[in-house]
Amino acid sequence: MLKRYIYQILLITCCLCLVSCDSEPGIGRQRNTERSQAKEREFFAMDTYMTFTAYGQEADTALQAAEEEIHKLEGEWSVTDENSEIYKINHSQGAPVTLSQDTAKILDFALEMARQTDGALDPTIYPIMTAWGFTTDQNRIPSSEEIESLLENVGYEQAVLNGNQIQLPAGMELDLGAVGKGYAGDLAAEILKDRGITSALLDIGGNIQAVGSRPDGSDWRLGIRNPFGEGQVGVLFVSDRAVVTSGNYERYFAGDDGQIYGHIIDPSTGYPADTGLASVTIIAEEGKVGDALPTAMFVKGPQEAEEYWRAHQDFDMLMITEDGEIRLTEGIQDSFTLSGSFANMEVQVIRSQ
Ligand code: ADP
Ligand code: MG
Repeated sequence: MLKRYIYQILLITCCLCLVSCDSEPGIGRQRNTERSQAKEREFFAMDTYMTFTAYGQEADTALQAAEEEIHKLEGEWSVTDENSEIYKINHSQGAPVTLSQDTAKILDFALEMARQTDGALDPTIYPIMTAWGFTTDQNRIPSSEEIESLLENVGYEQAVLNGNQIQLPAGMELDLGAVGKGYAGDLAAEILKDRGITSALLDIGGNIQAVGSRPDGSDWRLGIRNPFGEGQVGVLFVSDRAVVTSGNYERYFAGDDGQIYGHIIDPSTGYPADTGLASVTIIAEEGKVGDALPTAMFVKGPQEAEEYWRAHQDFDMLMITEDGEIRLTEGIQDSFTLSGSFANMEVQVIRSQ
């Protein structure tokens, strides 16, 4: 009896192993060859760790040029560096400031996204971020009076961009925290492509920018993080896309009142967004769109995010609600698979109608 039981367990174990090995034929060997051809660059910039991986003859020099571009942009966009353009705008006391082309372009984009999302994304939210201590990691809960008075200095409509000149009222501050890394990824990817790279993966502090596909032509396999703990909820297969996730699990603190306060702020209230979402992943052609939308959709919440997607449909989206539901748009239905303890979870597909 016991023998038969052990035999059965052994048989089941073998079958399971076969299933998991067979689902990726030869992938181990392929990966090893890929890895030996891969060139990698790891560095710290824009307040985050970046890992750029590229394949091909010119990979080394192309990656170096891409990293240099990131450092250049960081110099232009840093909120704290006195020589940056953003610093100049924030200390202009309302006087017009002339911008470089890159900065004018990203600010134009950020303000346009603010309009499109009805201010769910607001690049002038910085004073509120500071009040909550998210910019210094010395978190505190501001009083409602403090928030109310700070909100007078928040509002993207008050930033006037004309060509490459911007005028921002005194007391207001701009910051590209929610969109800068995405646009930096676009420009880095452009540099790699210009140098003939057709296969690269840029990890910009968790924002993923995939250039082309893997060297063997197959899709990149990207894990979607479990917002409730360790591991991942599933794997997404993509080529030539930016994949960016926002969630409060990335940066938050527990207040003296026992509540959890996350770093994505609802600009209409000045308080951390609390819309029942644990995370939002956006899959878009451009990194800047991929970066801007998860933050905005997190603020909007599942219902309004769905409506926004229906009205635009030029991106895909995967939302995980705090109740543990997964909702994804129809375009990625076949490119996402659940994994591990999430394997049996129900996935709802959002359709265009
Ligand atoms: P990360 O900085 O980890 O990439 P996100 O892309 O989600 O995270 O961006 C969140 C950052 O954007 C915050 O740290 C803050 O600087 C800024 N931010 C928070 N809420 C908003 C908002 N509603 N609009 C614009 N920027 C925001
Ligand atoms: Mg973002």
